[in-house]
Amino acid sequence: MEIKSIEEIKKNNYLNEIKKLLSNLSSLNLESSNLIGVSACLLGINCRYNGKASLRPHVLKFLEKEKLIPIPLCPESMGGLPIPRPPAKIKGKDGFEVLDGKAKVIQLSTNKDVTLNFLKGTYDCFKIVKLLNLKVCLLKEKSPSCGVNYIYKFEVDELKEGKGVFAAFLSRNNIKVFSENDI
Ligand code: SF4
Repeated sequence: MEIKSIEEIKKNNYLNEIKKLLSNLSSLNLESSNLIGVSACLLGINCRYNGKASLRPHVLKFLEKEKLIPIPLCPESMGGLPIPRPPAKIKGKDGFEVLDGKAKVIQLSTNKDVTLNFLKGTYDCFKIVKLLNLKVCLLKEKSPSCGVNYIYKFEVDELKEGKGVFAAFLSRNNIKVFSENDI
C-alpha cells in the first residue's frame, strides 16, 4: 500500500488496508518471546535528527538483566528522512490524530510537512514488528514518532502528555509500548 496524500488517509480506512497487507505477511517461525523492539537511538545508533544517538546505559542493563534481544527500529529513518534532519513536531493533539489524518507532522525550521514520511516509516517498522512477531516495544520518550507518554507541544518548547505516531500505531494494534523512563 502506498500512501500518497493525507487526503487518502482520511478517505480510506487505511487501518483495514494495512491489516489486509499484513495478513499476507506471515511471521517468521521464531521463538520471539525474548525479542523486543527498541528505538534504535536508545541502543547507540546515530539516527536522531541531530545525527546523534540517545544511548541509555540503563536500557542496555535492563535488556541484559531480562535476557531480551533488541530489534532496533527507527521509523523516521525508515520513512526516508535523512540523518541529520531538521527536528519535527506534531501540529495537533498527538500521534493518534496524525494516524487519523487530523494532524500533521511539520519540520520546524523549514515548515515542511513530513507527515507521509512519518506514516511510511511507521508502517514499515510495523511490518518488522509483525514479521518477528514482537509483542512489546521500548521506545524513546518525547519523540514525535516514538514518544510513549510525552511529546512536545507544537507552539512552545514544552512537553505535554501524548504519544508519537509510531507509539500510537503500535498501541492501536495491541503492541505494548513503554519508554526508557518506565524502566
Ligand atoms: S524516530 Fe525513534 S528511533 Fe528514530 S531517532 Fe527518533 S526517537 Fe530514535
